[in-house]
Amino acid sequence: MIRRFLGKVFSGALFKSAQPRVIPFKTHRIARDHVSRGAMKTCETLQQHGHTAYVVGGAVRDLLLGGIPKDYDVATNATPEEVRAIFRRSRIIGRRFRLVHVMFGAETIEVSTFRGSAAANEAADDSDHSTDEHGRILRDNVFGSMEEDAVRRDFTVNAMFYDPVREEVIDYHGGVADIKAKKLCMIGDPAQRYREDPIRMLRAVRLAAARGLEIEARSRKPIRELAGLLQNVPKARLFDEMMKLLLSGHVAEGVRRLRKEGLHHGVLPLLDVILEQPLGERFVMLALENTDKRINEGKPVSPGFLFASLLWHEVLAAWKAAEKGGMHTMPALFHAMDQVLQVQAENLAIPRRYGADMKDIWALQARLLNRSGRRPYLLLEHPRFRAGFDFLLLRCACREIDAEIGTWWEKFQHANEETRAGMLMKDSPGAGKKRRRPRRKKKPAAAAGGADAA
Ligand code: ATP
Ligand code: MG
Repeated sequence: MIRRFLGKVFSGALFKSAQPRVIPFKTHRIARDHVSRGAMKTCETLQQHGHTAYVVGGAVRDLLLGGIPKDYDVATNATPEEVRAIFRRSRIIGRRFRLVHVMFGAETIEVSTFRGSAAANEAADDSDHSTDEHGRILRDNVFGSMEEDAVRRDFTVNAMFYDPVREEVIDYHGGVADIKAKKLCMIGDPAQRYREDPIRMLRAVRLAAARGLEIEARSRKPIRELAGLLQNVPKARLFDEMMKLLLSGHVAEGVRRLRKEGLHHGVLPLLDVILEQPLGERFVMLALENTDKRINEGKPVSPGFLFASLLWHEVLAAWKAAEKGGMHTMPALFHAMDQVLQVQAENLAIPRRYGADMKDIWALQARLLNRSGRRPYLLLEHPRFRAGFDFLLLRCACREIDAEIGTWWEKFQHANEETRAGMLMKDSPGAGKKRRRPRRKKKPAAAAGGADAA
């Protein structure tokens, strides 16, 4: 009983952490040649200099799951200065908690000194407070022991250390067993850990979706209730986490799960609105599935395209509204684009640098409908034609527009001159109407509205 009580107070994990399990090769079966040369070399060299050094975190998790990690973190008892002195091609980064980037060819290994637990940080914090009023950790910058380093990590499967020289996994929190059971379990008291850092809720969902794990009930339960805490997270961090999800290769599943956990509100302020529109949801999910497919085929994905698709139905609605209000097609579209981008800039910090790409792609959606005269030829030369066309295909696929338009452009791109000429449409009804109006010949060239820049 007392043990159970203390277990709660000390967030359970500390009991388990006293004696780590040392798991030999015959049990963990991590193939040494799956470990990157840089990670191997970093650990070996640090050990030769008398330090302890392990591959840690997501890389160990992914190796145990049989995957190839995309990057490596190494944890050591050497200080950043000591690490820096050992590796010629290395540099210290970060101000508060300094890490060392060690470079091997194109590979960069992130080396960090074992970090202290939240409690150690609080004790060392002689200034104001190390957490905010919701319990969110503001400072996390004290060196610690290997055991403390493990306990401050989020999930048991992310808290294992792998020594590639001895081929041993050091496991303080039962991560190896959890990998086997395909379970994602928070270290310590889940609610408290989510309060310390609400991003962990998003990480739980992303990792579960991307690695085919189930969030165990205890770690899952507090999420719905604490989802609102994501509002307090700095936007830039939220944005980084969202990018990780979008580019995980499992974003469609991730978004489904975010929704299931009631978390999609915090990720993208308008995503929940979009997901509630029947037409918008289909479009977004299709775009996400498309993104996953591209990533899993090793093709590049542009963030501008992705954001443009997430917000397309917002733009569509605002576009229609502006037209209803009496604006012409192109000015109405530009007005809608600005309106949607402005809301995003205020709410979520989609960095402005993506705005230009998004606008290009959206503007092309109106222009691609116009298939007469010289316009289609000019559009083929447009630097964003490919993105605009791919976007158009998504619209066709979810029947927002006639599939015939997509087929036409597909054919037009690859046709020879003669076929192209035969494919051109007469004049669009809109353009015809305009021309019927008598022209005033005498007037000097007036400033043309500039809306139809096509
Ligand atoms: P991936 O890189 O595949 O997204 P990862 O688990 O490696 O997943 P990173 O952001 O690279 O994620 O973090 C590396 C490690 O740092 C994690 O495995 C975990 O041990 C620890 N970590 C990262 N973010 C947090 C957090 N918010 N709270 C506690 N520990 C964290
Ligand atoms: Mg990682």
